[in-house]
Amino acid sequence: MIRVERVANAPQVVKLRLARTLLGKPFYSTAAYWVDGLLVDTGCAHTAPQFIATLKGWHVDQLVNTHSHEDHIGANARVQELFGCQILAHRDALPILQDPKLQSLQPYRRLFWGWPKPSHGVPIDEWVETENHRFQVIDTPGHSPDHVCLFEPDRGWLFSGDAYIGGQDRALRQGYDIHGIIASLKKLGIPMTEFTVVIGAAGLAIGFALQGSLANFAAGVILIIFKPFKVGDFVELAGQKGTVREIQIFNTILNSPDNVRLIIPNGQVTGSSIKNYTVNGTRRVDLVVGVSYDDDLKKARQVIEQVLAGDDRILSEPPVTVAVSELADSSVNFVVRPWVKTTDYWDVYFNLTEGIKLALDKNGITIPYPQRDIHMKGGVS
Ligand SMILES: [Zn+2]
Repeated sequence: MIRVERVANAPQVVKLRLARTLLGKPFYSTAAYWVDGLLVDTGCAHTAPQFIATLKGWHVDQLVNTHSHEDHIGANARVQELFGCQILAHRDALPILQDPKLQSLQPYRRLFWGWPKPSHGVPIDEWVETENHRFQVIDTPGHSPDHVCLFEPDRGWLFSGDAYIGGQDRALRQGYDIHGIIASLKKLGIPMTEFTVVIGAAGLAIGFALQGSLANFAAGVILIIFKPFKVGDFVELAGQKGTVREIQIFNTILNSPDNVRLIIPNGQVTGSSIKNYTVNGTRRVDLVVGVSYDDDLKKARQVIEQVLAGDDRILSEPPVTVAVSELADSSVNFVVRPWVKTTDYWDVYFNLTEGIKLALDKNGITIPYPQRDIHMKGGVS
C-alpha cells in the first residue's frame, strides 16, 4: 500500500507512506520523502514495485538513506537502476547497502519487509545540495550506529528517519543505543530529558513483550480464528456494550446503544470476559416490580401476568418467571423474567415497564415510594 501526501506547512515536500497490509489492513508502515529531486529513504523490499511505479515520471537526482535498516533501503537498487542517481549514506551503512544480508533480521521483519536488493552507495558529505535547498547532514547515532538526519536551516525542515522511535515503530532491535539516542536528540535541539527517553525505552521493552501493538495484534489473530463474535453482534467487551461494526487486526470497533463509536484494543477484548448477546438468538428481560405491602399479592401477580400474555413477542419457551423475590424496606418485589428474541429485547423491555405500571395503576395497586418513619427528639415545635 502506498499513500502520497504533501507535508503540511511544506508543500514542496512529498511524503510517501508505505505500508505492508495484512488481511487488507495497513499493518506496519514506513515513510520516504521527495523534495526538489532529492529522495530520502526508499521503504522496504515488498513495497518496492509500488514505490517505483509511483516515482515514474518524477525526477530523482540523488538518494539519501537515513540509515541502513531494511525498511529504509528496500527500493534502493531499483531507484538507482531507474534514475541512475547517486546513493548517499553514512560510511558505516555502505557495506550493508552492498550486502543487506549483513544485518540480522528477526524472522517477522524478514516476513514483513523482505530482503532489499544490493545497491551501491557513497559516503555522505556534511551538506547535501539540491537546486533550491541545502541540507545539513547531522550524525545521529542511537537508533542505529549509521543514522543521519537532514536539516534544511532556511526552511526548518528536519528529515529525522528513525532518530527517535515513537508511534508505530516500537520493536527493539539489535544496535539500539539509548545514550546515543539521547545525545542525538540533544544535538537536534529536541527538548527531551533523559528521564522521558528512559521512560520511552522502558515502555518500548514492556510494549514489545506484553501489551503493545504486538499483543493487540496477537489478540486480533485470536479473534479472527476463534470468532467469539461477528460483525453485527451485540456484545459487551472490556466492560463496554455495543454492536460490533468492525474487527480490525489491532482494534475492535463497536457502536454503543447511544451511537457512540468505541474503539477497543484487541488486547483488552481477549483480556477480559466477552459477553455475546446475539449468538444464542434469545435474551431474558429482567425486570423488578415492587408493590405495596398493603396490596393483594395474588391480584398483583395476575395483573402482571396479563400484561405479559398480551405481548406476543414474548416466547413461550423458556417459560416466563413471575415470582416474589424480596420483602424490601418499602415494597414487596416481584422479579419478572420473560424471554424474547435478541432483536426484540429493548422494545419489549420498554413496553413491559410502561405496560405493567399502567395496568397496576388501573387495578388500584400501588408502586410505593421508599418510606421511612422519622422519630423527632422533643417533638415538632
Ligand atoms: Zn530503523
